[in-house]
Amino acid sequence: MITGACLCKKVSWRYQIEPERAVACNCTVCSRHGSMWIYGSQDKDLEIHGDTKFYLRQDKQNLGFHFCDSCGCTLFWKAMKPNEDGLFTVGINLRQADDPDLVGRIPLIHYDGLEKYVSVGPKGQTVKDLWH
Ligand SMILES: [Zn+2]
Repeated sequence: MITGACLCKKVSWRYQIEPERAVACNCTVCSRHGSMWIYGSQDKDLEIHGDTKFYLRQDKQNLGFHFCDSCGCTLFWKAMKPNEDGLFTVGINLRQADDPDLVGRIPLIHYDGLEKYVSVGPKGQTVKDLWH
C-alpha cells in the first residue's frame, strides 16, 4: 500500500494496489504540476480523505484536477463521470507520496500528452530517476 497527503495533511490518500507504472506526461497541465500519476478507481483501488477543490480545463472538461484549498498541493485528477463499473477513475499524483523511497522503484513511463499522445522514451527508468 502507498499512502500520501498534501503538505498540510488536510487531504490524504491510500492506494491499495501495486502500481504497474507511473506516468510522467508533458501536456500543458501535467508539466506545470511536475506530476507523476498512478491510476485506479476510487473506493476500489484507492481511498481519498479530506475535501478538495478542483480545476476544470476550459478545452477539456472530462477531468477535474483536485487540490488542497489550504496548502495548494495538487493531489489527483478525477474523471467527471463514472466509468462503466460506476466508479470514478482517478490519477493519483505520486509526488504527494509519504515515502519517496517506497515509490522510487516503480517503473516510469514518459507520455507525450502534448502532441503525439503516445509513450516516449527513455525506457528503463523508475520514479527515482525523475524524483531524486
Ligand atoms: Zn493541504
